Amino acid sequence: MEICYVLDASAFINGFQITSKRNCTVPEITAEIKDFESRLKFDSAVNEGLLVIEDVPQVYIDEVGEIISKSGDVLRLSSQDVKLISLAYMLMQRGENVKLISDDYTIQNTSKIMEIPYSGVMTKGIRGIYNWKKVCEGCKKEYGEDYPFDDCEICGSRIFKKRIRVNK
Ligand SMILES: [Zn+2]
Repeated sequence: MEICYVLDASAFINGFQITSKRNCTVPEITAEIKDFESRLKFDSAVNEGLLVIEDVPQVYIDEVGEIISKSGDVLRLSSQDVKLISLAYMLMQRGENVKLISDDYTIQNTSKIMEIPYSGVMTKGIRGIYNWKKVCEGCKKEYGEDYPFDDCEICGSRIFKKRIRVNK
């Protein structure tokens, strides 16, 4: 069965490449994705139907809360973290083949306790070295990191920061 990826905000922010047709997350994650590039990637995945934003019934959140507290681990999970883990848990209960993608150590650790398959983006061998450059939204002129203005000196359009991967 095709893997259904359960994506944390860190998956988008750290450059997780969507290759599967089945990806999902919870509504709370949406608010955590703020930078331009991650946001663009998030929105286009939703628009293309590759990413489904799914809410989780309280019953699963309660069950997850119970399992976590029984583990005896002192875990500092935010409510959206718990919700995301609950989504993965719910899908597993439905017999789905899931993998939770997060670079958050606490989420990874909880996944381990709950026997939810998980993977990081940055922590895997695909770690890249990133740099920023500034690009004009209008004429696409590229500026160095040290260019001090928010608008393009040629066309006056807004300049956005773009993360680029530096290949070794
Ligand atoms: Zn320009």
